[in-house]
Amino acid sequence: MSWLTDAHIHLSDDEFSNDLPFIINCMNKLRIRACCVSVDLQSSKRTLELGKKSNLILPFIGIHPEKVSSNDLEPVVNLIEENSKYISGIGEIGLDKTYVSDEIGFKNQELVFHKMLSLAEKLKKPISVHSRATLEEILSILPSYSISSILLHWFAGSKKQLKTVMEREYFVSYGPAMLYAKDKQVLLSETSAERILVETDGPVKFSRCFGYKVGQIAFLPSVVFCAAKVLHTTYDDISNQLEQNCKHYLGV
Ligand SMILES: [Zn+2]
Repeated sequence: MSWLTDAHIHLSDDEFSNDLPFIINCMNKLRIRACCVSVDLQSSKRTLELGKKSNLILPFIGIHPEKVSSNDLEPVVNLIEENSKYISGIGEIGLDKTYVSDEIGFKNQELVFHKMLSLAEKLKKPISVHSRATLEEILSILPSYSISSILLHWFAGSKKQLKTVMEREYFVSYGPAMLYAKDKQVLLSETSAERILVETDGPVKFSRCFGYKVGQIAFLPSVVFCAAKVLHTTYDDISNQLEQNCKHYLGV
């Protein structure tokens, strides 16, 4: 039986802090590992600590576009460099205009994103990218760097953008929203099998069948079942494919 990997979850979020022993136990029982992303200095430190608690937690540290206005850049850069042996990747990084009110704010996001990309290039680490409504900008920046592997998490681009992403051999991940969002299912069906990853992005809350509950790692098998159905394959076959994809993404 293969291991599943949640390619993007925020286990360092306060929402999960009281339940961590149960979550790690659940991960062991369900055979799920997780790329745990961070958003700022504090969550990056917590993620590193979580990585020491369980080898099922693969730490990703970085600065989320929502958090660029804090003074975390220098300390997070130092943290990444000092802990490069212990981290599996850099993230969550990216761009998002909904968090800024003017051009200066966006320029600042770009500056932080460039710094994170140059670190990923230097340290040969995979990245987990947030690209809400900024996919075009991000697709124009990424080729300037030589990065081992790139995940565009919660992929929500157009079919045309997906084609570009596939040609460049980036990974894309789909989450619980795919169970009820037809557009995500269509995108999945157009994604090359070896470029697909799955995620929960917990603690994001999902509607419909998930009843606005905080996203849990235990939602992941449902995402895999849905992907198997959309791709007309079996749960076991897609799980094996996802396991290979994840090894490729993480370079392990
Ligand atoms: Zn996220």
